[in-house]
Amino acid sequence: MRFSKTFVKTLRTAPKDETARSASYLIRAGFVHKEMAGVYDFLPFGLKVMENIKNIIREELNAIGAEELQMTALQNPEPWQKSERWDSEKVDIWFKTELSSGGELGLAPTHEEPITNMMRTYIKSYKDLPAYVYQFQTKFRNELRAKSGIMRTREFLMKDLYSFTTDEKTHNTFYHQVENAYKRIYERVGLGDCTYQTFASGGIFSKFSHEFQTIIPVGEDTVYYNKDRSIVLNEEVVIPEVLDEFKVKKEDLESTRAAEVGNIFTLRYKYSEPLDLKFTDSDGEQKTVFMGCYGIGVSRVMGVIAEKFADDKGLVWPESIAPFKYYLVGIGENGVKAAEEIYAKDPDNILFDDRDLRPGEKFADSELIGIPYRIVISDKTLAENKAEITSRKDGKTELIDIDKILDN
Ligand code: ATP
Ligand code: MG
Repeated sequence: MRFSKTFVKTLRTAPKDETARSASYLIRAGFVHKEMAGVYDFLPFGLKVMENIKNIIREELNAIGAEELQMTALQNPEPWQKSERWDSEKVDIWFKTELSSGGELGLAPTHEEPITNMMRTYIKSYKDLPAYVYQFQTKFRNELRAKSGIMRTREFLMKDLYSFTTDEKTHNTFYHQVENAYKRIYERVGLGDCTYQTFASGGIFSKFSHEFQTIIPVGEDTVYYNKDRSIVLNEEVVIPEVLDEFKVKKEDLESTRAAEVGNIFTLRYKYSEPLDLKFTDSDGEQKTVFMGCYGIGVSRVMGVIAEKFADDKGLVWPESIAPFKYYLVGIGENGVKAAEEIYAKDPDNILFDDRDLRPGEKFADSELIGIPYRIVISDKTLAENKAEITSRKDGKTELIDIDKILDN
């Protein structure tokens, strides 16, 4: 991409009410635009990052046999009434509206009810099971406080996966596959060494659910962990009987702030029972479908990555999700000519800063935007038939032969 061809501009300042460093950088670097508190547009660079995260998630979920679909944001109250989650007194984050022809509608905060209801059309017999279905979908939640930029918003992108099985045993096997897929996902997006699978409260139906928590100071949650971090507990389950069960003492645990980047739940019959999702088993008996749900906050993951790796100059994207691999600057007439030739070799992976700006401004923007490698080519480097390549992560610079510059 040529920088001169996008409408996006980097900005000197971000809105004053943004307290998280990542939010301020994401706005200034042109990844997102703020509509209002907790509501953000994703601009071309930001959309690329989001798509890269989505593709990693998609690959890992497809690999365990899950199937992608897309459900609607507009919600019919009926299935939610059956599960007793329509009442705003009980679920306080609903955005609701009215049809002009009369009757209420909601904007989906999650999709257990509609997907359970929909599956009644397709699941009739044990032969129709298991089914593993996911989507990337915008969720709407009237959160009391929108904060930390794109880490907690009122409109956000979630990946939600639902499993439908004949029995608990099949469910457990899949649940375990999802745990492993999640580990690979967090590893691949760059959060592997700071994200832990934690025990959290599981509600009334199963003892624990699992959360995936990334350790980060701006996180809203508190987690407790033992020395080797083999046991990580969400604060909410740090109670005497749980501590006994894990054979740990509270005073031996350390605590830290963390952001919930995903979670997995064994739902059992929580939704299939009230919504009447049944199947005929091989013995001819009518049984209720066993369910699980598995979320990842895709836009929150992007915010957490932005926050985690940023430094005093700007964003630092892991290569796996960066909008481009290279940021290219040509200095002087010959430098620009040589840069054009490099750019032509791989335009999709290069952000070519061909704007009419001084090199210093381009360098500052390359640091703010956080592309993994900056390539600079000038008369000086051309004299040796080389270009300079600088890693955004550690600032190390190397001189490399021009024809090998895109090889690393
Ligand atoms: P939280 O405790 O952070 O409110 P939650 O328990 O409400 O999260 P779920 O309903 O299970 O979360 O949603 C699945 C995932 O979606 C969460 O793990 C989180 O990563 C993300 N998420 C939840 N709420 C928001 C939000 N308001 N903005 C951005 N991401 C969110
Ligand atoms: Mg919530």
